[in-house]
This record gives sequence, C-alpha cells and structure tokens, in this order.
Amino acid sequence: MTDILQKFVFEDAYVRGELVDLSDTWKQVQARRAYPRAVKTVLGEMLSAAALLSANLKFNGAIVMQIHGDGPVRLLVVECDSELNLRATAKLAENADIADDATLPQLVNAHGHGRFVITLDPKDKLPGQQAYQGVVPLDGDSVATVIENYMLRSEQLDTKLWLAADDTVSRGLLLQKLPHDGRLAPSGANPDLEAWDRTVMLASTLKREELLATDIETLMRRLFWEETIRVFDPRHPHFQCNCTREKVGNMLKMLGREEIDSALAELGRLAIDCDFCGQHYEFDAVDCAQLFAGDTPVETMMPAGPAKH
Ligand SMILES: [Zn+2]
Repeated sequence: MTDILQKFVFEDAYVRGELVDLSDTWKQVQARRAYPRAVKTVLGEMLSAAALLSANLKFNGAIVMQIHGDGPVRLLVVECDSELNLRATAKLAENADIADDATLPQLVNAHGHGRFVITLDPKDKLPGQQAYQGVVPLDGDSVATVIENYMLRSEQLDTKLWLAADDTVSRGLLLQKLPHDGRLAPSGANPDLEAWDRTVMLASTLKREELLATDIETLMRRLFWEETIRVFDPRHPHFQCNCTREKVGNMLKMLGREEIDSALAELGRLAIDCDFCGQHYEFDAVDCAQLFAGDTPVETMMPAGPAKH
C-alpha cells in the first residue's frame, strides 16, 4: 500500500484540510530501531504532523520538528522536505523505564523544561540566509495540542489536528482556517463563515481508534459527507534519509581537530551510525586528516619519512 497525503478545501469557505496515511514510511522508521510503545505513539503522531505541515510550505526545503525532553525521552525528531521525504528518530535517557501508557508530558516534560522546536530550513539558501527556528515551551498534553498552540501563537493560524499512530499505521487530519477579509469566495459566492466551527465540530467526533482503523478516503466521506469538498491530486510521502559521508565528515570537523585526534588515539578509528537510518560510517586517521586538510598547508599534512618520488 502506498502512503498518501490528500489536500482538500471546503468550497466557498475559508477552510482547508489535509488527511495523511503513513504505513510504509512508518514501518521503515520503526524497522531501524525498536522503541517502547509510548514513544512509538508520540513519534508516529509527529510523523503525520510533519507531513501535514510541510505540505503547505511555500519554499523548497525541510521542516524539522523537535521535542527536547527532560524526562525518560530526551529528544524526538521528525524531518519532512517539500517532496514529502520523511525521516524520524528518538533518543531515550539511559536506562529509561517507560510504561506503555506514558503520556507526552510524562515522556518529555517531567520537570516542566520540555521544549518544542520547529525549524524551517530552505534547501538553497541565499547568501547569509539562516534557517528559521521557533522555540516554545511544551504547551499541551498531546502532540496535536502542542502543535495547535504553536501554530496559533507563532503563526497566528487557527489549526486543528487529529493524530494517531500504532505499530502499523500513522494517520492524521488537519483543518486550518484561512485568513480572509470578508471578501467574496473565489467562486463569487458569499463566503461560508460558519464553515470553520462546523467542520471542526464534525471532525471532533473522530476517535483515535476510528482514525487508526479507517482509510482516509472513507474518513473524508464519513466526516464531511454533507460538505462540498474540492480535493487535489494525492501526494505520496515516503521514507528517505539524506545523510551522506560528507555531512558526517562536516559534523566531525565541527568537533575540532583536538577532539578528533584524541578520539582517534583512543579508538583507532571513528565509527558513526546515522540516528535516522542506521547507515554506518567509518573515519580512520587518514580520512580525518583529509577533513582538516583544507585548513592547514598541505606540506604539514605529509607524514615525515622516506621522500616520495
Ligand atoms: Zn541516515
């Protein structure tokens, strides 16, 4: 089964919607690492949320959604680019003991220091252009509420999310109120100003179990059968990690020569596994020397010893 993201608008209303259905992408994330059940639920919900939010991005680049935790879960990261390539990972505290039914606050906000971070990272940055980053306290008991609160406060966008994930599927529904200034709808009709309250009320009948058990086409019919909806061409999210040897090398370089040399002296070679996809990278002394080669005159890089031709 292919993963699907379906965008739609309510006709003559300033409300847009999206439904996403991730099974293959979600399976691929889970295949790379085993997570406790409660972590799976939260990470899976973030995966759908990231796909839903990035489908509305107006730039070519990636959205990175992070929750920095102060409980048994230290970090949850989901990335989604404009092509709907997704990757996700979680870092747990050492010896974390996590109950199956642990809630989001229990996982990441045990001491009230949890942070929610959204980064918008354009792919082809203009000179001097930085990624945009919004950091807010973790405000909400669920992934959906945290994002809704963020969108309202930081983006001034009324957004509602329904998210659910289990072992096999991650699904989500987004409704967003579009800004308008009382003008006529695009069709020339009077805008349907009650549509936001009405569609949110309809969607609020959706229970977690129903969201997990029902494909998005059926969900759309079931929830909004009385509404006039215009659907767009479906898009297909998938798992993809964009890690490369070069990026890992740059990360090592940022640690600094001294740090790397001392690690090499101790370990002989550096082994790094990508947190997202598990790809294994190794850097030996020669590889590491090459990383810093540009910074130092080449002569000083040459080993002393017998002359070369
Ligand atoms: Zn990777």
